[in-house]
Amino acid sequence: MLLDRVQCLRDDLRAVVSNLDPDRVGGSDAAALLTCFAEVEKLAAGGRILVARRVEVSNVWQRTGHRSAAAHIAQATGTGLGPAIDTLETARRLPSLPATDQALRQGRLSHAQATVIAGAAAAQPGAERSLVDAAATEPFNTLRLRCRRVEAAARDERASYEQVHRSRYLRHWTEHDGGVRFDARLAPDDGARVLVAIRAEVARLTTEARKAGVSEPERAIAADALVALARRRMPGSTRRGREGAAVAGPGVAPGSACPAASGHSTATADGQGPEVQGPEVQGPEVQGPEVMVHVRVDHAALVRGHAEPGELCEIPGVGPIPVDVARRLATDAVLSVLVTDGVDVTAVAHRGRTIPAAVRRALVERDPTCVVPGCEVAEHLEVDHLLPFSDGGPTELANLARLCHWHHYLKTHHGYRLERDDGRWCWLQPSPPGQRA
Ligand SMILES: [Zn+2]
Repeated sequence: MLLDRVQCLRDDLRAVVSNLDPDRVGGSDAAALLTCFAEVEKLAAGGRILVARRVEVSNVWQRTGHRSAAAHIAQATGTGLGPAIDTLETARRLPSLPATDQALRQGRLSHAQATVIAGAAAAQPGAERSLVDAAATEPFNTLRLRCRRVEAAARDERASYEQVHRSRYLRHWTEHDGGVRFDARLAPDDGARVLVAIRAEVARLTTEARKAGVSEPERAIAADALVALARRRMPGSTRRGREGAAVAGPGVAPGSACPAASGHSTATADGQGPEVQGPEVQGPEVQGPEVMVHVRVDHAALVRGHAEPGELCEIPGVGPIPVDVARRLATDAVLSVLVTDGVDVTAVAHRGRTIPAAVRRALVERDPTCVVPGCEVAEHLEVDHLLPFSDGGPTELANLARLCHWHHYLKTHHGYRLERDDGRWCWLQPSPPGQRA
């Protein structure tokens, strides 16, 4: 009987795998075993797909108490509902796809390959044979791309685009540890616009990181890039022409500065072209951001450095944040700190740090480049308070320095310090753990 045979094969295989000692297998044997196990896996995938359809149409899933055939398959295979739905979809298409069916029965297609091929071939049956052939030689990602193109050519592009556009969204939520997560769905061109802008920013930050000899994971730099973009979209940032930087006209759309960056180079990040200004848009000429979030902090908590139970230190709509983070925000242009005493607002810390025009001019004169020794970045410089404004640091020339975005980031988040000694700048490594303030 069929079931007995398959169970015998399974038991044999289990005996082999449970006694397998990979350390005693030579390299070339290991490679041969790998290929062989992969073939077994493909054959098993073929069998699984073929019987999945029977599970569905026979309604056995109802008798086993599952809410759907996909739920039954997901439980039996230990996968999620998504892959189970794919399995069923592929199984339903198989009867009209002879080449795929044959390749699957011969163990020439993996589950993933069969899924993408069946999807594309269902849309354009004429392409089936060539897709099955391609699966034998092409890497999976290439095959998937080929299948996507076949599908795209077969469907009504416009309707599909409109559907994606109609279902666009951006959601965010706060996790229990305070991390803010985003999830977005965008029409492809809008998605590309956002990605190109992020990519250009990543290139700029990566160059800065390399110069500084710091290595950060790519995903972390991408996150920094998103934040940097958000910081740039502030009023005045596209109008200001100070310090010789190129300026974008008011009609320049976000991301339109970036087509050059969509190639392989990192060229856009050099500040040429209609790059907008960096976060240093806190000057007196700025009327105040269109969108500003007031972080509410109790005065007592701000002074103490941490919040006691019942005290408030939070970003409305996001959630609580540590007091020292709120302190750093005192020099932020979008998040302004609203210091409260009970219900009365005692101060908006944001205002006091505005740099008077004369001080700013003197600062530009004194610090034409990032002040960190060896750093020659001269564009998009940010103004740093050596002693933070929230700790009483004055907005005077002696307490200010211009830093590139990267060095400003290191100072703000990684414990690097900047000191001025006898007219010379010293860039100090972070103190050992435990000594940090
Ligand atoms: Zn620098």
